[in-house]
Amino acid sequence: MVHWKEVLRKNFTQWEPLCDYLELDEAARPHILKKSIFPLNLPYRLASKIKKNSLTDPILLQFVPLSEEEQKIPGYSRDPLQETTFKQSSKLLQKYPSRALLVTTSACAMHCRFCFRRHFDYDVHSKSLDLDLQKTREDPSIKEIILSGGDPLSLNNETLASMITSLETIPHIRRLRIHTRFPIGIPERLDPELLHLLGKSRLQIWVVIHCNHAQELDVDVLSALKSVQKQGIPVLNQAVLLKGVNDSIAAQQSLAETLIDHGILPYYLHQLDKVEGAAHFAVEDHIGVQLIEELQKRISGYGVPKFVREIPQKLSKTPLC
Ligand SMILES: *Cc1c(COP(=O)(O)O)cnc(C)c1O
Ligand code: SF4
Repeated sequence: MVHWKEVLRKNFTQWEPLCDYLELDEAARPHILKKSIFPLNLPYRLASKIKKNSLTDPILLQFVPLSEEEQKIPGYSRDPLQETTFKQSSKLLQKYPSRALLVTTSACAMHCRFCFRRHFDYDVHSKSLDLDLQKTREDPSIKEIILSGGDPLSLNNETLASMITSLETIPHIRRLRIHTRFPIGIPERLDPELLHLLGKSRLQIWVVIHCNHAQELDVDVLSALKSVQKQGIPVLNQAVLLKGVNDSIAAQQSLAETLIDHGILPYYLHQLDKVEGAAHFAVEDHIGVQLIEELQKRISGYGVPKFVREIPQKLSKTPLC
């Protein structure tokens, strides 16, 4: 099997080779943002799924910077969730009781144009998690740690192993959640060593992937996720409601059905966070509510995600249905 780092190295990061690969014509090219503060980063697997010479493809819209990003729209800010105010230490964020989020890295397998952490003030100076783990150790109310980022699977297996080992020594930590989009672009990341590492932990592990459109799920991605499930690890999905990507009942239904056909539970459908550069993805709340109500009529109850918004200061995500 090819090493995931080899695959990652082949990501598209320059607009010109990407435009050529996508066969974008002279009329389409001016819509591509050539320089973005949040740079282009697109795995080959995802690029290969984009329809040629189309600016409306649901995968292109998610990953390729378009000129719309430069619009300044009132209400859209750099830190819409005021995350910096919830930092317990440089990498530990706690907003909700009983669980805390470790921002392990700023690196991702891909750059999603609507990412609410696209301007996040990552602590890139220190690699050590000692202080963050110390905070966790001192607070027995924390029962679950969520590895987030960036994408925690950007870290190599050795780093993850030592992180998990440290967390296992904290008696009140019972569960470990991994929030990752890595397998969607680079399923090779779920290598045997990682699976072994996750499978043997004393912590109950939950993996939450991030997939917005059924086209992101191909046989390789699904079979890699199956190998996670075979370790006794439940896999859930969270999606973001995005204009032009999944704001139709057809898109929502096919995503939900593909997920539940493979034992993956649709967990959340998030309303877009109002981050600068992402305003063109906004869908009105009432459209989202309609989509969920319609979905409820069409598929099994467990296949319907909770439609939520994140409101700073609230003690959980806020349901919109
Ligand atoms: C979303 C989020 C969580 C997880 O919330 P759940 O409802 O348990 O999935 C935890 N911490 C932070 C800071 C979050 O933003
Ligand atoms: S993978 Fe997640 S953290 Fe990384 S850019 Fe996409 S949405 Fe943001």
